[in-house]
Amino acid sequence: MKIYKAAIIGLGPSGLAVNKILFGDSSNEIIAFEKEDINNRDNFFGFWLTDWMKPFENIIEKKWFKWTIGDRNKKITHSSFDKPYCVISFKRWKKYCLETKNILDVKNEPVIQYIPIENYFKIITADNNEYYAEKIYDSRSIKEKKGEMIQHFFGVNITVADNTFNENKLTLMHFTKEQNVLHFMYILPFSHNKALVESTVFSKQVYKNSWYRDKINEYLIQNNIIEFKERSTEKGIIPMFFAEEKYSPNPNIFNIGIRGGACKPSTGYAFSFLIKHIQLLKNSKKNYVSVHKFLERRMDKIFINFLKNNNENGQSFINLASNLDGNEFQSFMMGESNLLTKLKIIKSMPKLPFIKEFFK
Ligand SMILES: Cc1cc2nc3c(=O)[nH]c(=O)nc-3n(C[C@H](O)[C@H](O)[C@H](O)COP(=O)(O)OP(=O)(O)OC[C@H]3O[C@@H](n4cnc5c(N)ncnc54)[C@H](O)[C@@H]3O)c2cc1C
Repeated sequence: MKIYKAAIIGLGPSGLAVNKILFGDSSNEIIAFEKEDINNRDNFFGFWLTDWMKPFENIIEKKWFKWTIGDRNKKITHSSFDKPYCVISFKRWKKYCLETKNILDVKNEPVIQYIPIENYFKIITADNNEYYAEKIYDSRSIKEKKGEMIQHFFGVNITVADNTFNENKLTLMHFTKEQNVLHFMYILPFSHNKALVESTVFSKQVYKNSWYRDKINEYLIQNNIIEFKERSTEKGIIPMFFAEEKYSPNPNIFNIGIRGGACKPSTGYAFSFLIKHIQLLKNSKKNYVSVHKFLERRMDKIFINFLKNNNENGQSFINLASNLDGNEFQSFMMGESNLLTKLKIIKSMPKLPFIKEFFK
């Protein structure tokens, strides 16, 4: 009976990060289970260049030192020269994380369950095979939950006429002020004629693809982009609630990625945090470490409850952006804001609804 050093359940960005960061320099034999064909996955992960992301600088696809937040009437431009906004593609992350010294055995089968036996686990897959490993790194997560907010989006990668986009400035949030729903456009201009144009909604339910496509088309027409070639699409759901699994009483079970609590629910940013989480686990003897600080989590919770119970149309985000400079804004988004920035954030928010949520 072969017992692997560890089993990774799910080869999304966090499962891949475990292979690279925790076992990449070893000669261990690791087994990974993935239910989908990850070669078909391609999307971009955005983040601001924090210190913990610097080791991955050479696989960054593009950096932007300026970004905008606004609507039809107002546009705030932020800049940060030390901590630009960056993207890494899933394909590149996958290639980087699979180039390791260790031996990785990948099984394209869903895991049904795993059971602790003495000092190892028996892992059972859907085709009824059994495998054994000393440790479990589990990244399966629930993306939707009744009554909870989710961030859902659909984007198209397009090619357009030369010099259409300003490739030095990205549109982080362009709010379109829909009725009863928070919607914004997210534009990543990779070059003067190539961009990812994405429609994003914060609500409790996912929409049909045609809904986001209509918003994308409206936005393109408003910006005089009539002719374009669609190269690919990306879509996703990110939970805007805290993961329940985070902590496992079994010291050899590690919950990772969104399941491990890496997502910052108020913004949907998870990629750089799930990497930070694995880096923290590498330096810890425990199977659980908290990526987000207590005060950040508390502020996130209040903000999400505010979004749930109020008809926010983006104005709070625009107010927030206008009260912060680029460095303050990115520090808030990356969970690194100081007390002064936190006070500025609280000051930017609508007072009464926030006080109500605080005391709930
Ligand atoms: C299209 C898209 C764009 C995003 N963009 C950003 C961004 O710009 N910035 C950012 O910070 N975050 C972004 N996110 C959010 C977050 O970074 C991603 O959701 C990320 O993929 C989370 O990684 P993960 O490893 O936790 O989970 P997942 O990526 O969901 O990986 C889990 C894996 O487990 C597999 N799996 C599930 N059940 C089983 C099973 N029973 N057996 C075997 N395998 C199983 C799944 O198929 C999946 O591949 C984005 C998300 C999506 C979907």
